[in-house]
Amino acid sequence: RAKQEGRNQSHFYSDQLHQAVRHRMYLERDLRHALRNNQLQVYYQAKINPYNGHIGGMEALLRWHHPVEGVLTPGVFLPMAEELGLMFEIDQWVMRTACAQLQEWRSLPFLHAQELTMAVNVSAIQLQGDNLIYTVDEALHSSGLDPRYLELEITENALIRDPAHVAAILHKLVARGVKLSLDDFGTGYSSFGHLKLFPIHVLKIDQSFVAGVGKGDSPERLLAAMIAFAQTMELSLVAEGIETEQQASFCAERGCELLQGYLYSRPIPSNEFEDRYLTGSFRHEPIGPPQSA
Ligand code: C2E
Ligand code: MG
Ligand code: MG
Ligand code: MG
Repeated sequence: RAKQEGRNQSHFYSDQLHQAVRHRMYLERDLRHALRNNQLQVYYQAKINPYNGHIGGMEALLRWHHPVEGVLTPGVFLPMAEELGLMFEIDQWVMRTACAQLQEWRSLPFLHAQELTMAVNVSAIQLQGDNLIYTVDEALHSSGLDPRYLELEITENALIRDPAHVAAILHKLVARGVKLSLDDFGTGYSSFGHLKLFPIHVLKIDQSFVAGVGKGDSPERLLAAMIAFAQTMELSLVAEGIETEQQASFCAERGCELLQGYLYSRPIPSNEFEDRYLTGSFRHEPIGPPQSA
């Protein structure tokens, strides 16, 4: 009996490991069928114009409704999708869904729906081949969306692998009228010199810098400097991860044209988004004109 218990104990950690591996295998198995089983859903998060309180655009963010695990976020399953070679299919589906959704919303008799931009995240592997161009063309064609209302959010690290190749792809997309935004700005490895290579229109300041507001002089100066940098480069500015009024006013006063974060809205399903932002007269409290204006 004692021998039995000892053995159970020594097997405890390997059992846990075994369970973790099995859990992952089970998720991977399910992920292969998630798209076909209609378990993937695109959520939308608003970007708010702080000066008038109206919505200025939205970002498409992917969710997986797992029948047992509940709603899973991309951090959990996109790395798996990448390993399983499912990214092309998923990215294509997201792009198509988001473009079709905006095109549908543009047909609503809504005062502010006409100039809204749909931002879609692009993964680093999409930029390695020519997939992205195909994906974008196909989604624009099937939805009928004017390219100027599509924005691609690209992280800095997706730019550094093969800069010349990536720059060529991005220039082709820009030639179609698509907007490009640099996501999670400040967290990656790209240099300032690097930035000139790419036809970027928008900088999205990462939430880790926004979180510096109210945390002392030095984090605030860093954020202010990043905002000033974007202005010097004549780039549009979006601040992400806005959770407090204080963060919102700090960014708005210094000239961030759009604010995005839980303070305004979490990412929500399309029907909720429509009810909240597009069919009513919903408006957030405006913050006032930027200091520099
Ligand atoms: P991201 O593009 O930088 O998106 C911002 C993330 O911050 C989202 O997480 C969003 O839900 C979250 N967020 C928004 N406002 C706040 C806030 O006020 N506070 C905090 N703490 N977080 C906030 P999510 O949806 O889990 O997505 C994580 C990342 O996964 C995204 O980062 C993006 O890189 C990637 N991703 C999401 N959807 C897709 C997709 O369809 N395709 C690809 N390739 N990547 C995607
Ligand atoms: Mg993004
Ligand atoms: Mg981001
Ligand atoms: Mg991020």
